[in-house]
Amino acid sequence: MKIHHHGAVDGVTGSCHELKINDHFGILIDCGLFQGAEVSKTGAGENQLDIDFPISHIKALIVTHVHIDHVGRIPYLLAAGFDGPIYCSEPSAALLLLVLEDAIKVGFTRNRQLVARFLKILKNKIIPLPYSTWQSISSELDVKLKPAGHILGSAYVECKVKSEKGSKKVIFSGDLGAPYSLLLSAPKAPYSCDVLVIESTYGDKKHESRKARRKNLQAIIEKAVKDKGVILIPAFSIGRTQELLYELESIIFENRKHHNNALPWGDIEVVIDSPLAAKFTKVYRELEPYWDKEAQKRVSSGRHPLSFDQLTTIDDHQTHVNTVAYLKRTARPTIVIAASGMCAGGRILNYLKALLGDKRTDILFVGYQAKGTPGHEIQKYGEGGGYTTIDGKKYPIKAQVHTISGYSAHADQSDLINFVKRMRNKPQEIRIVHGDDDAKQALMRQYKALLGEHAEVIIP
Ligand SMILES: [Zn+2]
Repeated sequence: MKIHHHGAVDGVTGSCHELKINDHFGILIDCGLFQGAEVSKTGAGENQLDIDFPISHIKALIVTHVHIDHVGRIPYLLAAGFDGPIYCSEPSAALLLLVLEDAIKVGFTRNRQLVARFLKILKNKIIPLPYSTWQSISSELDVKLKPAGHILGSAYVECKVKSEKGSKKVIFSGDLGAPYSLLLSAPKAPYSCDVLVIESTYGDKKHESRKARRKNLQAIIEKAVKDKGVILIPAFSIGRTQELLYELESIIFENRKHHNNALPWGDIEVVIDSPLAAKFTKVYRELEPYWDKEAQKRVSSGRHPLSFDQLTTIDDHQTHVNTVAYLKRTARPTIVIAASGMCAGGRILNYLKALLGDKRTDILFVGYQAKGTPGHEIQKYGEGGGYTTIDGKKYPIKAQVHTISGYSAHADQSDLINFVKRMRNKPQEIRIVHGDDDAKQALMRQYKALLGEHAEVIIP
C-alpha cells in the first residue's frame, strides 16, 4: 500500500491524493483545481490542468466535499479516461453537478449540448453514500464517510485496507471544519486510525472565538453604516456565503429585536451578487435536514436564516453592472457578498475596480488567501497605500481592509490537534498536507509532541 499526493502538497489548492493498494488497484481522494501561483510537483497548475499521473489502475474517486479546489479537475480526470464511480455524501451529490456544470462552462465549453452530455455521464457515475456507513469498493477496500463540519456534505474518509495480514485504517481528512461552524455540527474524531493524511490550512493559527468574530463583524457593519460606503466580502459560493448570511440574519434580527436604534438595522441591504452562490444557497435551504440543531430551531421559530427580508440576489449581468455603478456613485451602505473568495475572478473584481480607491469602502476577508491571488495582495498591501493588479491594471488601495478568521470553515491548530488527540487508537503515521510551509511545520511539531516516538510525522 502506498499514498501519493498529486496536489495540495505545497499549498492548499489542487487537492488530489491517491491510495494505491497495488499496481492494479488504487483510488483517488478528490481531484481539485489549482489556484493562484500554486502548482503540483510535476508542474500542473492553474494553466496546465491535464492529468499528469498514471490513472489506469484508479478504480474509484472519493469526493470529500464540493469546493472547486477539491473537485474542479474531475472533467480532466474523465477526459484522461477515468471510468470508475464517484462516491460522495448525499448532500455533496446534490451540489456536485452544479459545481461542475459551472467549472465546465468556465474552463471547457459553453456549448450546451456538450455540457449536457458531460453532465449526463457525470450523473451516472455519482454514487451518494449515507454518512457513517461502510461501503465496499473492492475485496481489498471498504470506505466510510464521516461528517467533517466544513461545508454542507463535507466528509472525511475512512479507508479500511484489507489484506491477509489484517486490516489497516487510512484516513483522509479532506478539509476539516471548526467546532463552531454555523449551520453544521462539529466533526467527531474517529475511533482509530493507522495512517492519517491531514490538512493544515490553519495549522499555525488560532481562530477568533465565535463571539469575538461576530462582534467584529457587527463593528465593521456599524462603522460602515455610519460613515457610508460599501462592505465587500469576497466569499466562496459554497459554505462561507451561507455561513455569513446566517450570521448577518442573526445580527440584524437581534439588533432589531432589542431596538438598537442607533443604527437603521432594518434598512441595511445585503446583496449576494453571484448566480452560482444564489443557486447553492437554494440547495442549502433544501438540505435543511443536514443542518445542525441550532439552525433547525431558528427555522421552526419562523425565521429564514438563508432568505431573510433584507437579502437581495443578483442574477443577470446587467443588474450586476448597474449595481456596481450605483454603489460607486452613492456609496450607500450595503453588504455585498461576491465570488471568488480569493478575488482571482468572478464578479468581485468589478466591485474592487470600482471601489478599491474609495476610502469609505470596507473589504472584509473571511477566508484563506493563497499567494499570487489579488486577495492575498490586497490583504498584504492594503495598509500603507499599496496597490493590486487586476486584469493587468494597477489599482491603488484606499479602502479599509479587514480580516475575520473565524468564518474560515477550517479547523484551527487546536482543532487539528484535538482531532488526533481524541482518537482512541492513534495513528502511527501522519502525513501533513494542504497548507503553507509554516502551518505544516508548526503542526508537525505539535503532533510530534503529542505522539512522541511512536509515530512518524511527515510533510510529503
Ligand atoms: Zn474546502
